[in-house]
Amino acid sequence: MSSKEKKYKWRREDYQEQTRGLLMVHTGNGKGKTTCALGLMMRAAGRGLNCCMIQFMKSRNDRYGEHESAAKLGIEVHTMGDGFTWDTKNPEQDRATSRKTWELCVEKLRSGDYDLLVFDELVYVLSYDMLPLAEVLAELQSIRTSQPALHIVVTGRDAPAELIAAADLVTEMKDIKHPFNAGIRAQQGIEF
Ligand code: ATP
Ligand code: MG
Repeated sequence: MSSKEKKYKWRREDYQEQTRGLLMVHTGNGKGKTTCALGLMMRAAGRGLNCCMIQFMKSRNDRYGEHESAAKLGIEVHTMGDGFTWDTKNPEQDRATSRKTWELCVEKLRSGDYDLLVFDELVYVLSYDMLPLAEVLAELQSIRTSQPALHIVVTGRDAPAELIAAADLVTEMKDIKHPFNAGIRAQQGIEF
């Protein structure tokens, strides 16, 4: 083995030792939190990672472009929203939907069947106190101890400080310009 190959091998081992499952947070007011998570799942699925996304806020009956693509890539997606939207008219129902959706997240976390789990809009739900932050953080912490290779992504605006502190990677999408403010409506293939 040449000295060049030896050096490469050493670096590979070093890289392997210094990896672990990440807790990743996509937050901020700009567009791109969910699509970033979808892009990551596309990359991960290409490497044979078993991925699942659970969406807290999208409506179960609506079809989104990502649902069609995920099915093609063998990526599991669960949409639990039940019409749960930004301008909530029924906070009690939203709280119950949040609880039911979190129970599915816990089931998936504890199953040990996944390499990458995405909880879309869990951060929004936490920032509105629809689920107790301490309970969610304790569950994530316990899973990260028992499954150290599991990657977890959570998305949504206004990430609480405790979640940011617990995460390995936090990206804030900054709203510099959005077509909505110029009166351009949501478009198929871009927003849904
Ligand atoms: P995307 O799903 O496109 O990655 P996102 O997950 O960052 O967006 P959310 O906060 O989940 O955004 O909001 C969902 C919808 O709100 C999207 O259709 C998105 O285009 C729209 N949106 C996001 N940011 C803004 C903004 N700053 N102003 C207006 N609409 C926005
Ligand atoms: Mg989103």
